[in-house]
Amino acid sequence: MINQTLTKMSSFLVMDILERAQELEKQGKNVIHLEVGEPDFCPPSAVKEAMAKAIADNFTSYTHSQGILELREALVDYYQVNYGVDLEPDQFFITQGTSPALLMVLNLLLNPEEEVILTDPCYACYPNFVLAAQGRIKTIPIYPEQNYWIDPDHLSNLVGPKTKAMLLNSPANPTGTILPKQNLEEIANLAYEKNFFLISDEIYHGLVYQDKANSLLEITKECFVLNGFSKLFAMTGLRLGFLISPLKFVPILRKMAQNFFICANSIAQKGALAALKCQREIQEMVNTFAQRRIFLLKGLKELGFTLKVIPQGAFYVFCPAHHLTQKFNNSSLLLAKDILEKTGVGLTPGIDFGPRGEGFLRFSYANSLDNIQEGLDRLANYINTWT
Ligand code: PMP
Repeated sequence: MINQTLTKMSSFLVMDILERAQELEKQGKNVIHLEVGEPDFCPPSAVKEAMAKAIADNFTSYTHSQGILELREALVDYYQVNYGVDLEPDQFFITQGTSPALLMVLNLLLNPEEEVILTDPCYACYPNFVLAAQGRIKTIPIYPEQNYWIDPDHLSNLVGPKTKAMLLNSPANPTGTILPKQNLEEIANLAYEKNFFLISDEIYHGLVYQDKANSLLEITKECFVLNGFSKLFAMTGLRLGFLISPLKFVPILRKMAQNFFICANSIAQKGALAALKCQREIQEMVNTFAQRRIFLLKGLKELGFTLKVIPQGAFYVFCPAHHLTQKFNNSSLLLAKDILEKTGVGLTPGIDFGPRGEGFLRFSYANSLDNIQEGLDRLANYINTWT
């Protein structure tokens, strides 16, 4: 019998939608992809050049298990410049994307049955990571009426003897909202008082259009931060991320990195090093996302969608669609499937992000203005014809 924990793992619904969309494309149908959380840009050309050079130079051997020192030193500078925090290269673990970094930190912290607090809604894969590390999930609801911030009193009541960690994500997937510094401070104080760990997934940092996203490291050094090159640097398939850990956990994490992964891809590490120097290209991408965000928000409003909270970061709009899911037994999955079949627009069903996401649709604006416009036109037609 296989590991029974894994039989409880849910599928990542956005991938189900994407796979069906790809089938339709193979049949010759045109699909507008507003479901995937992946920049439609190429990495900056300096990244491609650095990677080509790495291959030409035969930079193809295993690297240090924590990643090449040059890249970790560059990340130390990046955190100093962008957040004013002093870190050491030894605190960084370069991983094959943020996902393995999360796997490492959860396996580091969790004994069987210990709890991790997740928000509802949250990134669809988090619960499955916790399950795979033999942990239990406790959820704290977050509400659009409260900007999806975390209520410290509620959190305080939720923490029990088995609570080991809480996972934060700001700017958040799927809501696009940012936790203000004060909220992060309240959570950090509680974690200190009640003795649980904080893991902050900061993969959408830099993709901020309104207000400011603080790194949890600006508030406490006693936390784990996950970040990576997939989103801001448009390097999803190159698979490069990192974990920042308090120094005291580095020896055991290093053993994990050595055993589980040996090291991250050597060529992608050279690419990431170049990416950190591409401020101008990165800013251009951020400006384009900013434009698309305004465009999509306006278009959704014109279609009759009402948002209680305006997303400030990432590249998502988490949109209440209860008036449309009504017809589908309140199922956002059935609605998203119906929209895909009838209009060729891919959207992510809110239920992917937890029970409180039901009735919502997540729109990704990691697509061109023309495609967003076409998607909105098709949706307008759908609403007029089918509802
Ligand atoms: N965290 C969040 C919130 C995400 O949305 C994603 C990707 N969709 C990841 C982590 C994983 O990203 P990667 O492994 O590509 O770094």
